[in-house]
Amino acid sequence: MRRIVFLGPPGVGKGTQAARLSRELGVPHLSTGDLLRSAVAARTPLGREADGHMRAGRLVPDDLVLRILKDRLGAPDAQAGFLLDGFPRNLAQAEALARLTVVDVVVSFDLPSATLIERLSSRRWCPKCQSTYNLVSQPPRAAGRCDKDGAELVQRPDDRPEAVATRLKVYAEQTAPLLDHYRGAGRLRPIDASGSPDEVAARVRAAVAEGSRGQVL
Ligand code: AMP
Repeated sequence: MRRIVFLGPPGVGKGTQAARLSRELGVPHLSTGDLLRSAVAARTPLGREADGHMRAGRLVPDDLVLRILKDRLGAPDAQAGFLLDGFPRNLAQAEALARLTVVDVVVSFDLPSATLIERLSSRRWCPKCQSTYNLVSQPPRAAGRCDKDGAELVQRPDDRPEAVATRLKVYAEQTAPLLDHYRGAGRLRPIDASGSPDEVAARVRAAVAEGSRGQVL
């Protein structure tokens, strides 16, 4: 069983690595940010409620996120394992997750905040399929266009500098305490998230293998 959580500040590369590892392990990549952005784009009542919080860089209220996560975790493809990206983000969410399922390993990604800010400012996003690019390290093949569907790439509203400052503060205050929580539970595998996507992927693989050792896979 592979029930994996990726923990780390915005811009650290969790989403990119989660997409890769999800393909390698054959378990679904569950990103609460992606699920919320889809709800916003579809203008569902939940999406409309989440939109303002997201634009400002604040956390969306726990009850909304939990509703969306419970649905996704209950889907048939998540029964043999999953890779959670962006959840939990505070202690109450970690406790709610523990009531829903067991977590085998928590990989935490670490990077200095100056590098995070640099990465977020050069990040571009496809509003159609949610693929992410970086103008410096991972540019699209054709400038300004998504490789997968040709849609015009944009900057996510919450990647603008005002929202980035709030997101980093929210991470430090609400999400970073989860590191101690999972360390205490013996589940935490910290990795250095600097370097190329290939270098980071090798560290992620090693962390997951080490974290899963001795467990029934
Ligand atoms: P992300 O794509 O993970 O950076 O998430 C983008 C935004 O979605 C966050 O800044 C929050 O506003 C919201 N969000 C995503 N996941 C959660 C969560 N687990 N709890 C609360 N808000 C979330």
